[in-house]
Amino acid sequence: MNPLRAVKGMNDVLPGESARWQRIEGAFARVMALHSFREVRTPFVEPTPLFMRTLGEATDIVEKEMYSFVHHDEPLTLRPEGTAGAARAYVQHAVNNREPVSRWYYMGPMFRAERPQRGRYRQFSQAGAEIFGDPGPACDAEMIDMLVGFFHDIGIADSRVEINSLGTPGTRDKYKEALVAYLTPKMEALSDESRQRLEVNPLRILDSKNPRDVEVVKGAPTIQGSLDADDIAHFKGVCRCLDALGTQYKVEPRLVRGLDYYTRTLFEIKGATDKLGAGDTLVGGGRYDRMIAELGGPSVPAIGFAAGLERLLIASETAPEGQKVDAFVATLGEAAAPYALTLARDLRRAGLTCEVDARKSSLKAQLRRANSAGARFALIVGDVEVAEGCVQVKDLAAQSQEKLSRRDAVASVAARVGRDGTSKPPDGPPKELS
Ligand code: AMP
Repeated sequence: MNPLRAVKGMNDVLPGESARWQRIEGAFARVMALHSFREVRTPFVEPTPLFMRTLGEATDIVEKEMYSFVHHDEPLTLRPEGTAGAARAYVQHAVNNREPVSRWYYMGPMFRAERPQRGRYRQFSQAGAEIFGDPGPACDAEMIDMLVGFFHDIGIADSRVEINSLGTPGTRDKYKEALVAYLTPKMEALSDESRQRLEVNPLRILDSKNPRDVEVVKGAPTIQGSLDADDIAHFKGVCRCLDALGTQYKVEPRLVRGLDYYTRTLFEIKGATDKLGAGDTLVGGGRYDRMIAELGGPSVPAIGFAAGLERLLIASETAPEGQKVDAFVATLGEAAAPYALTLARDLRRAGLTCEVDARKSSLKAQLRRANSAGARFALIVGDVEVAEGCVQVKDLAAQSQEKLSRRDAVASVAARVGRDGTSKPPDGPPKELS
């Protein structure tokens, strides 16, 4: 029988790698708390029309990348991104009635049926945030600066910010006309895909990496020329705040991104190109001032971003971390296991991480396991130690060993590991076994 494998483009994260995930997720949660964002958790499955309405029907995601199915006549989709679900929840729970400004963040899996490659998967994780109720431009700049700081925290020093403004939907329509007027006479020079896009979604042609399209697009008008006075004032406001913060950025007039819901500020942050190649966009974000009203809510402005966690992991690559426990309790003989469990509980209550080996294997095998678990100390208990209420404490680095009472053993290991504050047991003192 063929062994079953995970679905293509959907990866396991084994315990050896999960420590790195936790480090990045922890750093993100810390940055979010510093900026007063609170976590929102929305379902992985949403009604399909939510994505059609918000992302736009002529986008790559909706056209060809969604995992959609019908269940009991209800069209459902595995979420391909987090903003639509967050906005749906914001409207559904009338959150605007409770607070004028909401700062939300999320982390979790997203699903897109894309062609898998390094940094591009079918199940991937995003860390993202949304601000509802603040029209900007200061919070737009805060978000960008916060991300640059976060990347620095996790060891990505070369992040590069690109920003643009998409104006209002009216601006965009005006610009689409100008773009189509420019591209139509040059249609023959475009790639097949872009020729099709000319009718349905001409802005996407600006995103094309096909060298033929890149050449044609070089001379195309930019959206900046179609912005109205308010859009320009907003954009200048964002730049002014970024300048004051000392955050480097580049205005990229051809940045459009693939989703329909954006208005005004749009940004991407790239980095670690040496590791990620062309797929070096770590985060994409922008303002979506119309979405809440379009979902049936009040007119509330909003801005958000999403960063791909797999890309951040590749970008901040460090040597894989091995397992590391403070203490390893080795047992010899029948009476040792219950005694060892109590000893291990005392160690954990003193804040020490530890593992107990009660497999009845030889001391040599247990010490080998202690070393591979990264333990600094092995605490050995056999029949004699149980009878005397003591423990052999072996310092695995120094290769020294001493016999101590159980209480002294815990105190000594805690002090030498540097964690000698004891935590209280949950309900009363532990029952002494010996
Ligand atoms: P988007 O939601 O398309 O704006 O993407 C935001 C970020 O999510 C990107 O910059 C990537 O870091 C990440 N991302 C998007 N699609 C994928 C994917 N298929 N696999 C891995 N990461 C992705």
